[in-house]
Amino acid sequence: MFESLSGRLQSAFSKLRGKGRLSESDVNDAMREIRRALLEADVNHVVAKKFVDAVKERAIGQDILQSLTAGQQVVSIVNDELTRLLGETQAKLERSAKPPTVVMMVGLQGAGKTTATAKLGRFLATSEHRRPLLVAADIYRPAAIDQLVALGQQIGVAVWAPGAEVAPAEIVRTALDEARRGGYDYVLIDTAGRLHIDELLMNELDQLRQLSEPEEILLVVDAMTGQDAVTVAQSFHEALGITGVVLTKLDGDTRGGAALSVRHVTGCPIKFVGTGERPDALEPFYPDRMASRILG
Ligand code: GDP
Repeated sequence: MFESLSGRLQSAFSKLRGKGRLSESDVNDAMREIRRALLEADVNHVVAKKFVDAVKERAIGQDILQSLTAGQQVVSIVNDELTRLLGETQAKLERSAKPPTVVMMVGLQGAGKTTATAKLGRFLATSEHRRPLLVAADIYRPAAIDQLVALGQQIGVAVWAPGAEVAPAEIVRTALDEARRGGYDYVLIDTAGRLHIDELLMNELDQLRQLSEPEEILLVVDAMTGQDAVTVAQSFHEALGITGVVLTKLDGDTRGGAALSVRHVTGCPIKFVGTGERPDALEPFYPDRMASRILG
């Protein structure tokens, strides 16, 4: 993951570390290299600029350049700023004071939404000892319902799937009744995805949002799509007000742009990451651990 970015950052660091005392122009050179590495990793250009400006301001402002460990200290500032860019602390899933807690899963087709719904159900059941109900409300992609039902069976989590002939609003309404009746404490709704963002999709999602009053609207985005993922996130956020992001396919050959930009651009935290196709391949997102992995 992020191999090329990690390599480029380490090369910039080795020049800094090797030097002891630093001049302003040493810092500027290193920051130019870091900025280029970020842009090549498909990080949003505003994010990349703000990032290096923040590091420069701290490095030069804190009067550390004459210290014998100046290089080391600049590296540590980069680490801090990277952690901050990724969201600082782990953002947990919100819980409703009055169960069930409703989580709407939204995203474009192919992002990994149905898989993420099942993965989150498994996570809540296994790691948090909760009773989730998965709701098959993606009636436009015929395979999505069967896929969710099959995954539910595989992980031993209940699925509410009245079928593709039932309107999504009706599916959600009856799912909420079922959850209250059955004492479920989470309702995870797999909503419709489309290949592109369109008004119809957003209207339907907005209707489901009003109906289900979700505690969380989690946007599922494919990390492999880089800047496109960030544009998608911005559109969903403007239309619906998302509360968090699930970044999928981090096990693939992703350059890092989506992971590093999405938080800053939307203001919403990454809450989980998908690291494989299997139902157990979901991890809570820890900004500090991710920063350490990127910096090597
Ligand atoms: P949806 O259209 O958004 O519901 O997408 P799906 O959940 O059907 O996922 C699309 C494809 O991506 C499937 O082949 C999944 O197995 C795969 N997928 C989902 N999440 C991940 C992940 O974290 N890593 C990998 N490698 N594949 C994933």
